[in-house]
Amino acid sequence: MNKVIVAATQNKHKIKEIEAITGEFGMSIIARDEAGIPKIDIVEDGETFEENSYKKAYEIMKLCDKITIADDSGLVVDCLDGAPGVYSARFAGVDGDDKANNRKLVELIKDVPYEKRTARFVSVITMVFPDGETIVARGEVEGNLVLEEQGPNGFGYDPLFVPVGYDITFGEIDPDIKNKISHRANALNKLREKLMAREG
Ligand code: IMP
Repeated sequence: MNKVIVAATQNKHKIKEIEAITGEFGMSIIARDEAGIPKIDIVEDGETFEENSYKKAYEIMKLCDKITIADDSGLVVDCLDGAPGVYSARFAGVDGDDKANNRKLVELIKDVPYEKRTARFVSVITMVFPDGETIVARGEVEGNLVLEEQGPNGFGYDPLFVPVGYDITFGEIDPDIKNKISHRANALNKLREKLMAREG
């Protein structure tokens, strides 16, 4: 497999993680502007990660006629009935304000004991080909939430999320380890299996 793929996502952290993982299986990722795509906002109004992921990949594929990859992801918190879920990026109102999102999350869960502060990160990766063929792969990672941000690594809710089997947060874990065990890594590994099966 040696393919150049356009990333529909503009989140630099996600692109970096996607590149770190897909590089190992011979896919090169280029950003939207490198593919000559004009700046556009894609409205993420789906009710599921699958819907939003497909929408992002399909709309960008239409604009460049190249293979496109999109990640829609978020944090699903059990004691909040699945919130913030598909609204993870704009949980506190402003898209991408990680600090405000984390503050809001802590406020909502602060009276829940640690063992009950269970959550999972979900990533749905969609690859859309110019002929419309679509490959979807979903990955998850389970964990618990702490009430104070810990660690400088990662982005988003990483400093609050302790993956199962560890006693430190994604904010503290070596990025190489996050890229092996994360929801995004699990989704990309499934995508790789599907691509390999497709190529025979
Ligand atoms: P999206 O760009 O609509 O898919 O929003 C994804 C949001 O989910 C991000 O802005 C983060 O708040 C959160 N998120 C997704 N993946 C991660 C991750 O790997 N670490 C921390 N937060 C994440």
